Amino acid sequence: MEKTEAIRVRFAPSPTGFIHVGNARTALFNWLLARQKDGVFVLRVEDTDLERSTEEFERNLLEDLRWLGLDWDEGPDTGGKFGPYRQSERLELYHQYAKELLERGQAYYCFCPEEELEKERKKALAEGRSPVYSGRCRNISLQEALGRLEAGEKAAIRLKVPDRGLVRFNDLVRGEVEFDLKLIGDPIIVRSNGMPAYNFSVVIDDALMQITHVIRGEDHISNTPRQLLLYQAFGWQPPVFAHLSMVMGQDNTRLSKRHGATSVDQFRREGVLPQALCNYLSFLGWSPPEGKEVLTLEELIKLFDLSRVNRSAAIFDYEKLYWLNRQHIKLLPPEKKLELSLPYLQEAGLVGKELPAAEKGWLTTAVDLLLEGSNKFSELPQKFSLIFDFQPESLEEEAAAIISSDSARKVLKALVEKTAGLTEFNYELFARITGEIKKETGIKGKELYHPLRVMLTARASGLELDKFIPLIEAGAKLNFPRPVKSCLQRIREFARLMNLEPERQPA
Ligand code: GLU
Repeated sequence: MEKTEAIRVRFAPSPTGFIHVGNARTALFNWLLARQKDGVFVLRVEDTDLERSTEEFERNLLEDLRWLGLDWDEGPDTGGKFGPYRQSERLELYHQYAKELLERGQAYYCFCPEEELEKERKKALAEGRSPVYSGRCRNISLQEALGRLEAGEKAAIRLKVPDRGLVRFNDLVRGEVEFDLKLIGDPIIVRSNGMPAYNFSVVIDDALMQITHVIRGEDHISNTPRQLLLYQAFGWQPPVFAHLSMVMGQDNTRLSKRHGATSVDQFRREGVLPQALCNYLSFLGWSPPEGKEVLTLEELIKLFDLSRVNRSAAIFDYEKLYWLNRQHIKLLPPEKKLELSLPYLQEAGLVGKELPAAEKGWLTTAVDLLLEGSNKFSELPQKFSLIFDFQPESLEEEAAAIISSDSARKVLKALVEKTAGLTEFNYELFARITGEIKKETGIKGKELYHPLRVMLTARASGLELDKFIPLIEAGAKLNFPRPVKSCLQRIREFARLMNLEPERQPA
């Protein structure tokens, strides 16, 4: 088969669920190599498992890849000269190539019933042997087999594999790998229901699609010798293989739901940026040479180096991912931050569907301030409670402790007195009043500022007051489903609750 010079790689997911981050990492590495070497990135949908594959999962898959920014040059929706790119649409091709092997005597029909094979498998395992097919049907001639099929019997097709010897290949990540043929046996290439086995369709497709590099998860490494035997049987040049180590949780077991979010879809919903997720995924088994960590896709394309991919298990570190997400969020312009935040704020009922210009301007500032220190966009509604919820009657322990001392009471009382007749409030005024309280009471530092913060926010910590007060004052003049209480409202509410109301002047 004629090969082109350019690098051609593929991502070949089965649409049987949402993309796991391990698979997304596989897609990313393939994509990075293609983009770096001016090659071609092919998306092939491996949907021959009819019971588990769904169109909906395929749609999600394409959507998640697009969201990640991993665009493909050939694929089920874009087409390309080696299509179709959905295996369920290529069944004819697989049958044609299986027929070729049958006619050349390199494959044979196997009539062994499923239950019998299962029994043999269990027996072998119980005796501590590898469950290898006995080869019982190997000598049934093609003619006899066709007769039996004609008569209504069902049969799978198996590849004839030498009984002994080694299959070797040089894996770009794992180095020399070899498998003993004794442990392999004749693999099924077409099942008795007519569907191709994974090992068969993948070889036919990779060969016909002229794939030069197969980069995939290490869970497929034991399939590779079977695939190489097929390349040999057809006399085709195999691609180069690179098997990526599995993605594990901190406890060294395969990353699964127990550890937290595992699919691209989940991280997307949480409000992790695609550029942050790609950045993090690139570190699963690879690291950039200079140690710079916050990298855009453009930078990753330049820096990525398959020969630096290491073989040790990649441990998924959620903290690191969220740290990277914070760094990428910081790089966004404020308008973009607002755009990405709105769905979360709307979902939480904090803003309505329609957003007038004044509210929008205020929210842009608020989001920008509150996103600092947020791991992901989904944390925002919680952060916004600093602004929309003011509940002095149910203070957290730490806040309650801060205002329980005599000196705190003195400070708060002074603030209440000094703001009693006011109708307007702002940060400058606050700073001036605070200065006066300091002078008059001699209370300063934490003793002075912490009670004031609690009085204005009903919390022990949060935004700096020089940011918080202007935000609250501007927000209080706007219309939100849950109105923002102004500083003066807050002070008065607190005062009532703590019996700090200013004494009435005698008439
Ligand atoms: N459909 C296979 C999977 O999702 C593809 C494996 C391969 O890349 O060869 O695991």
